[in-house]
Amino acid sequence: MTKVAIIGSGPCGLSILRAFQQAEEKGQKIPEIVCYEKQEDWGGLWNYSWRTGSDQYGDPVPNSMYRYLWSNGPKECLEFADYSFDEHFNQPIPSFPPREVLYDYILGRAKKANIKKYIQFNTTVTEAKFNGNQFEVAVLNKKDNTISSSNYDYLIVASGHFSVPYIPEYTGMKSFPGRILHGHDFRDAEEFRNKDVIVLGSSYSVVEMILHVLMNVVYLMAIIVAVQMSVVYQMEIIVRVQIVQGHQMVQHM
Ligand SMILES: Cc1cc2nc3c(=O)[nH]c(=O)nc-3n(C[C@H](O)[C@H](O)[C@H](O)COP(=O)(O)OP(=O)(O)OC[C@H]3O[C@@H](n4cnc5c(N)ncnc54)[C@H](O)[C@@H]3O)c2cc1C
Repeated sequence: MTKVAIIGSGPCGLSILRAFQQAEEKGQKIPEIVCYEKQEDWGGLWNYSWRTGSDQYGDPVPNSMYRYLWSNGPKECLEFADYSFDEHFNQPIPSFPPREVLYDYILGRAKKANIKKYIQFNTTVTEAKFNGNQFEVAVLNKKDNTISSSNYDYLIVASGHFSVPYIPEYTGMKSFPGRILHGHDFRDAEEFRNKDVIVLGSSYSVVEMILHVLMNVVYLMAIIVAVQMSVVYQMEIIVRVQIVQGHQMVQHM
């Protein structure tokens, strides 16, 4: 029987499993499938973790989600074709839902399809080699620290690409007295209360992090050093910051 390995059970890995399940539902013969997931649960980046740095097994935490994240795209553009928001929530919801709502929706589809049985959690793919015929896939069982290897006819890589932070070094960083933090390790703005913060960045996350910082401080000077920031983003920040300064309030989940 044909064997397929999938790396990762984030939205992409889950969608692949769902596609196989749909094919089976239609009466098609599906291959033997194993999905390896290095986290202890499914959902990929949407599986929020309070942890930063290493997990309980000393493995780097892949998760970049922060606690009060709200979707940066309208839900109408994120909807799965085979599982609508209306079907999941049974009532209309706003276009920009918070993290927990989207996570619930992503998992709702996966639970309905009953695909958890294919996933091996706490299992990291450490090596994949093509021997000319099959893929030799080596995996680390993080719980008992054992490595094993299996052969597959197909290997699907759905490991995501927002897990490894890049921090360039600038002059003065070594002697800077404050904390230097990559957005990957940002979880909550509470720690910045009454601090002056410099934020470097030019895309979606920076807009929201600045807002969170502004919402969580009494007095704050946020200096935005925008590297190649588009005019649209600059305007979005200015507009949204003005709105926040007007209200000084945020509704948290
Ligand atoms: C801060 C932040 C905010 C975002 N906000 C939005 C948003 O509002 N709307 C939106 O649509 N998208 C957003 N995204 C994009 C997000 O990446 C996608 O929504 C989605 O999570 C991508 O799915 P994925 O399955 O490709 O990858 P991921 O969600 O990253 O899942 C990959 C999975 O693979 C596992 N994995 C990786 N390597 C291995 C290995 N070697 N062995 C075993 N398992 C492994 C990981 O543990 C993880 O579970 C955001 C991303 C970030 C970082």
